[in-house]
This record gives sequence, structure tokens and C-alpha cells, in this order.
Amino acid sequence: MAPVSPGEALGAAYRFQTRIGQGAFGEVWTAVDTRTGNTVAAKLLRPEHAANRDLVARFVTERSVLIGLRHPAIVAVRDLVVEGDRLAIVMDYVDGGSVRELLDASGTLAPATAAQIARHVLLGLATAHEHQVLHRDIKPDNVLLTTDWEQFSPAAVRLTDFGIARLVTEGSTGTRGLIGTPEYMSPEMLTAGHCSYPADVYSTGVLLYELLAGRTPFAGPGTDYAIAQRHVTQPPEPLPVPAPLWEVLARMLDKSPERRPAAAEAAA
Ligand code: ADP
Ligand code: MG
Repeated sequence: MAPVSPGEALGAAYRFQTRIGQGAFGEVWTAVDTRTGNTVAAKLLRPEHAANRDLVARFVTERSVLIGLRHPAIVAVRDLVVEGDRLAIVMDYVDGGSVRELLDASGTLAPATAAQIARHVLLGLATAHEHQVLHRDIKPDNVLLTTDWEQFSPAAVRLTDFGIARLVTEGSTGTRGLIGTPEYMSPEMLTAGHCSYPADVYSTGVLLYELLAGRTPFAGPGTDYAIAQRHVTQPPEPLPVPAPLWEVLARMLDKSPERRPAAAEAAA
């Protein structure tokens, strides 16, 4: 299949505009909804993956999981386009970049700002968890911002990439292979190979720590294995932030999933 070019049609209703991102499964483009003139984002499955049934299933799962999840802090999915061997998820376009880009530009954030971003992520997670959905890949790259995010309007912070999300009720938390990012992975995922809702709270704790400190709590020398060891065995180095914020953060990073607050509680 030929690569996408700007102006090309995507299904009956959309037209590709600009490539904005490169993901694990394929490219992310802006597209225009020709019925409304609105800009949307289209996440395309890479053609060489279209024949891989597992990957297609994961891709479609992301769409079907997200279509049922409506929350101001979660990127809304609008459509799934299937056209020949082309498969695309159409979602709201979020115009302010990711929290990763914000961190790259500013190093660290003020405690109040960092806490607000983490709070919105936790509110989105609380809704996902109510629907028995784990995110499993919380990290700054997967938190998008609108350009007016500093006013913290309700939809300024939006969680995306439920690509490796799982419905907990499906019970597919086997020990086969780790998917996720070691720096953000919970101790129970690293040792037992499975996890539940508290793992998302842990990863959000790592994200909040990174927003405050400019580095994740267990980053440092060594391999992914060394990072994993530190998640499991070392306490996070305390940060010079207001005591109530550190207390919540330390509880989110508790090694024991049972002792962590639920997402809604941490947000509060
Ligand atoms: P992956 O599964 O590969 O991590 P993501 O869904 O995280 O894919 O998307 C990759 C990148 O594309 C994001 O980091 C972001 O820059 C961009 N992107 C994804 N979705 C959107 C969106 N709805 N609006 C704007 N940019 C997006
Ligand atoms: Mg991503």
C-alpha cells in the first residue's frame, strides 16, 4: 500500500492533512472532517501490521475501549475507518502537544502545576477504572494538552494511547512478556508480571515525580533490569515540595499496591 499523502481521502468523510506523530503501530495524522470542517486526529495502523491479527485486535480494542469511555480528561474517539487494508482510529485533535514536550521545554514544573496535571490524569483514570479498564502505559508522552491548558479548563489535560489498555474482566493479565515502559512500571508488574488498577496510580506517581524533579524516581545508571530492581527495592528520594503533596505522591509510589490510594482518592 502506498504511503499516505496530504489531501488524500480517508474513508468517505475525512481527508488527511499533516503527519503529526509516529507511534508504535503507525502514524498519527491530522485530518479534516469534510462534513463539518473540523480538524480531527487519525491514528493509522502501519500497513505491514495489517496482516498481524494480534496487532489488529489490539488496535481495534483501543478504539472500542475508548468509544465507551467519555471523560473530559480522556481523548474522545469518534470513529473507526476500515478501508481496504487501511485501518484508522479517528479521534479529537488535541492541539497543545504532549506533557513530554512540555517537560523537554521547561525541565520541571511548579508543584501546583504538576499537581493539577496529575490530578486530571487521575480523574480520567478513575473513570477508566470504573469501566474496568486499565491504561497500563501512563507516561508524559501519552498525556496531551490543549494550547490553553494553563487555565486548566476541564478538558485541558487529556489521556491518550489506551493502545495496551486491557479490560480487567477479560483476565488477560498473563505473565507473557512485559508491555509498557520500565521507568513507569509498577513493582508488582515487574515481579509478578501482572497488575491491576493500583499500577496506573503508581505510574501516575512516577509521572508526577518527573514533573516535579525533571527525572523519574528510579532513572539512573544501568540497564532496564537495574531500573526495575530500583522500582522493587528502593524508596524514592524525597523531593523538596510541600509536605501534603509529597505525602500523596509517596503513597502513590508505595511498593505495595494495596497501600496506594485509588485514582479518585489520589485526585481528591
Ligand atoms: P503510540 O501508541 O505509538 O504511543 P500515541 O497514541 O501515543 O501512539 O500517538 C503518538 C503521538 O501522536 C503522540 O505522542 C502525539 O504527539 C500524537 N497524537 C496522538 N494522538 C493525538 C491527538 N488526538 N491529537 C494530537 N496529537 C496526537
Ligand atoms: Mg503513546
